[in-house]
Amino acid sequence: AFISSLAICAGLSACGSTRSGFEQTGGTQKLEKGATIGISMPTKSEERWNKDGNNLKNKLEDAGYKVVLNYADDKPAQQNADIENMVNQGAKILVVASKDGSAVGPAVEKARDAGATVIAYDRLIMNTDAVDYYATFQLEQVGKLEAEYLVDQLGLNDGEKGPFNMELFTGSPDDNNAKYFFKGAWDILQPYFEKGVLVCPSNHGGGVTKDFTVDDWQKISVQSWKTEQAQKDMESILDSTYASGKKLDAVLTPYDGIAQGVINAIEAKRPDMKPGTESWPPITGQDAMEIAVSNIAAGKQGETVFKNVDELADAVYDMIIEIAEGKKVTGINGEFNNNNVDVPSKLLDPQNITVENLDDLVKAKYLTQERFDKLTK
Ligand code: BGC
Repeated sequence: AFISSLAICAGLSACGSTRSGFEQTGGTQKLEKGATIGISMPTKSEERWNKDGNNLKNKLEDAGYKVVLNYADDKPAQQNADIENMVNQGAKILVVASKDGSAVGPAVEKARDAGATVIAYDRLIMNTDAVDYYATFQLEQVGKLEAEYLVDQLGLNDGEKGPFNMELFTGSPDDNNAKYFFKGAWDILQPYFEKGVLVCPSNHGGGVTKDFTVDDWQKISVQSWKTEQAQKDMESILDSTYASGKKLDAVLTPYDGIAQGVINAIEAKRPDMKPGTESWPPITGQDAMEIAVSNIAAGKQGETVFKNVDELADAVYDMIIEIAEGKKVTGINGEFNNNNVDVPSKLLDPQNITVENLDDLVKAKYLTQERFDKLTK
């Protein structure tokens, strides 16, 4: 234990403080203005990471830091190489939104050895001691908002007994977040499966029954959160189970891109189902992507969970400045275990968006009125 705590301390700016728990005493290693900060994002192919990366880069540059920002094209090996490059360029703080939370460990360990502080951005870095802080949105709350929307749409709170046919999807199997999103949703939905009010008629992922558990989440996952994969999976569900006109009452999906795949599949396979009518199921999502804003306005998607990535960038920016100035990191309001350590975490609140409050996205300055009008007309 002595040796491992030494190892943990080796490159940690907050050395001497408890790494678990909420009391960070702050570091001693101040960063000069002009110092390099590395930002490693998973991919450009999903809308949000482009915003995340640019937001943070601009803020840090305005504050006088040099920023190296890379996108890993959804490739874990690429991301590890990016991080090693940042370390070679002298980055003393690294912000990492991992493509594969379990594959990035060796790279952040090298960073730590070189004296860098590592911040896991949005997605937790798993199975390593080399993570100092984590900032994300309340993960289970995301799934809870999605499931509550479906429960509400189906009238289950008003005593509707169904049984209602629901199909369910989870996010990418290599993303720790996906499990928590599902946990939040399944905690709400499982009791209705228990009572037989909800059923999943397809055999997707070996079948979702009342005995399905959160640990089974990867059985119904969508690799790399891809729209095309979700579409394929949904098409085979429709072919196998709904071809003869069986009613599809609801679809739980954790992300707008997956919702889009489900919508494409329904449009391809069941032209009799029409958005905005009884025949179209409520479908959930996450990220308030532009495509989802259009889909919600058109009655194709029911709900999205809005995570204001501007606020996440602000939260991480504050963290970086505190670390750079050798101050105590404030605003820590939780911790997540990554199988090795409890990582002190900043957790922000996600918000539910439906057709009723779609223009909250404009109020939050997430979209301009002009863009919103274009997307929703
Ligand atoms: C993020 C979500 C995002 C998903 C797909 C998750 O890790 O938390 O906001 O929808 O990845 O990019």
